[in-house]
Amino acid sequence: MAALDNNSIVAVIGSGAMGAGIAQVAAAAGYRVKLYDTHAEAVSKAIQDIGKMYVKLAEKGRMTAQEAQEASARLQAASSLQDVSDASLVVEAIVENLDVKRGLFADLEALVGDDCILATNTSSISVTAIAAKLRRPERLVGMHFFNPVPLMALVEVISGLATSDEVAATVYDTSIAWGKQPVHAKSTPGFIVNRVARPFYAEGWRLLSEQAGDAATIDAVLREAGGFRMGPFELMDLIGHDVNFSVTQSVFGAYFNDPRFTPSVLQQEMVNAGFLGRKSGRGFYRYG
Ligand code: NAD
Repeated sequence: MAALDNNSIVAVIGSGAMGAGIAQVAAAAGYRVKLYDTHAEAVSKAIQDIGKMYVKLAEKGRMTAQEAQEASARLQAASSLQDVSDASLVVEAIVENLDVKRGLFADLEALVGDDCILATNTSSISVTAIAAKLRRPERLVGMHFFNPVPLMALVEVISGLATSDEVAATVYDTSIAWGKQPVHAKSTPGFIVNRVARPFYAEGWRLLSEQAGDAATIDAVLREAGGFRMGPFELMDLIGHDVNFSVTQSVFGAYFNDPRFTPSVLQQEMVNAGFLGRKSGRGFYRYG
């Protein structure tokens, strides 16, 4: 099985933190990319930000000025979902909610060609369940990137019960063509990384609620003495508390309310307050 031909059109649905990163990486690898979001301003912001990132990369000598220009020119805004009907691969990076993702893929299946691969960047939701309502569930696969996408090499390529081996192999090889290091995984709650990461965050929340230390102290201890690249609170600020809380709820539910995965009421309050982390300018830390 080979990677998708790089004349193919890749559609990215959702132009938030992850969608923008995925679009940046795919266009830099030579693919034509169409970006869509229900909020048109999210698309224009993403395209602007990606253009600036390419310029910075060119300044650092990581790509030439011409490559930066060409990569920018391969990015296009899709003003409606119909605009992505000619895509060979659609990567979905919208809100972490099963019903919303299912609704989007049902709409997409009615629009795209028979050979189009449908991929979800879900962090935790069953790929089997997302695919289950499709006419052709075998064409849906998980393509799980990590934040920030341009810097993080790992991609979990997740097969649901119905995913065809050919589709998983094409997405695996395409990830390599995009400069990533993919692994095959099966559709289990949180897959590999987010399953192991849940107790990391949960212990952080427990330490905080027991007043063992404040968020900055716990982060510093884990970073500087524990050898982690980031502590739990700065990492959740990067991910977004809304996204992280949804992922915890999803893994908790999928493991039949196993107490190890109990979501934190403190995190729920962060979400209620709109203190979502970097994306809202305030989480445990202040930004911007
Ligand atoms: P985000 O909040 O930054 O962006 C989501 C975007 O999707 C928003 O711009 C929103 O307007 C758009 N959107 C919502 N519903 C839509 C719809 N029906 N159609 C089109 N656009 C829609 O979120 P994010 O952090 O980019 O996460 C997106 C997905 O990626 C989630 O499934 C999340 O679990 C997953 N993910 C997130 C991270 C992370 O660290 N943030 C890492 C890996 C995977």
